[in-house]
Amino acid sequence: MRSVLVVGAGFAGAVFARTLAEAGYHITVIDKRHHIAGNAYDEVDATGTRVHVYGPHLFHTSNMGVVKWLSRFTEWLPYRHFVDALLPSGQLAPLPINKTTLERFFNVSLDGEGSVNNLLAAQAVGISNPANAAEYLNSRLGRELTDTFFRPYTKKMWDLDLEDLDASVVKRIPLRADDNRDYFPDDTFQGLPADGYTELFRRIFDHPSIEVHLNESFDRSREQFYDYTFNSMPIDEYFGFCEGDLPYRSIKFHTRIQDVGDETGASVLNFTDSGPYTRETYWRRLPGHAVKPSSVQPVTREEPCDYRDNNFERYYPVKRSDGASTLLYDKYKALAMEIEGRTAFIGRCGTYQYLDMHQVINQSLQKANKWLMERGEKVEANVN
Ligand code: UDP
Repeated sequence: MRSVLVVGAGFAGAVFARTLAEAGYHITVIDKRHHIAGNAYDEVDATGTRVHVYGPHLFHTSNMGVVKWLSRFTEWLPYRHFVDALLPSGQLAPLPINKTTLERFFNVSLDGEGSVNNLLAAQAVGISNPANAAEYLNSRLGRELTDTFFRPYTKKMWDLDLEDLDASVVKRIPLRADDNRDYFPDDTFQGLPADGYTELFRRIFDHPSIEVHLNESFDRSREQFYDYTFNSMPIDEYFGFCEGDLPYRSIKFHTRIQDVGDETGASVLNFTDSGPYTRETYWRRLPGHAVKPSSVQPVTREEPCDYRDNNFERYYPVKRSDGASTLLYDKYKALAMEIEGRTAFIGRCGTYQYLDMHQVINQSLQKANKWLMERGEKVEANVN
């Protein structure tokens, strides 16, 4: 039987493993961590609360092909994510910025979308072709809102000024003229896997032609034993950093245990101050996460840092406005092209892209099916 090595048991690796196993390949998955599910890994802690060990993973998409594929392995708990920002005044305000946020921030009463748009137009700075995150935000929100909601947070998150960050990073956050407080307003499907992400991955890997080896690091000498390798490791590390290090941000998680109180608020609170923390998550406010009754709960704060200060755990590729990291990645991509007959790079770290879960799954389904078609295999048309 033809055999394929998959490096990394996160979403990219899981999608490749399952798709190729179902097409008749034998799959060996290795992961250097002690668990499957990559950064989506969750577990139930001593308080009976489901915690996402690498920060909150909130599934959202408008791609029903992705939902259909995942739904073979999980049921869903409906959940629409909303977030509060803690203002310098101590007040809470909805984030993304909407009508309520503006009313609280400017201490005014706005009677409709027209007055919201008038207020924003009065704040906005005229910039026709924004070249970076600062220009993009200033052109839509003006300096005061930008410098409160985005500048300190971005500095903590990326260790970059907004001027040095690519606009696409902050374009992830919508702007609303109404009272809708959806964090992902454009996505028709939002939900959390009913039994958690780890269980979802366990079911994806549960196939007679897939074997998973944990605590096992990749070594290039392994490739010779397989017909092909799909590798989700950091592409610069694979090539021995020969062109230089690709920058990544990482997160240190600090969890405290506190009494359960009124748990009706947002599950995520973002900090606008310039201290070390970007946000904190109240896990028991997420549906299905209060697995057992408890009078206490974990709350997790996130402290971004360079990945070299966090055990080389790479979470976020850094997209600078000067394109420097993309240019560096392109050099590695050129090296990858030379070996594409036997290896392909997949996922966030393999392709150096700031991707959400649904994007990784969609890309992986498409690439796996393309790879199979190139080999004359039949594939199911289940992706957009
Ligand atoms: N951002 C910010 N203030 C916030 C939330 C987000 O400045 O309160 C900026 C910041 O640069 C962040 C980016 O918007 O990295 C994208 O935010 P998102 O919540 O999508 O980040 P993720 O959940 O992927 O960490």
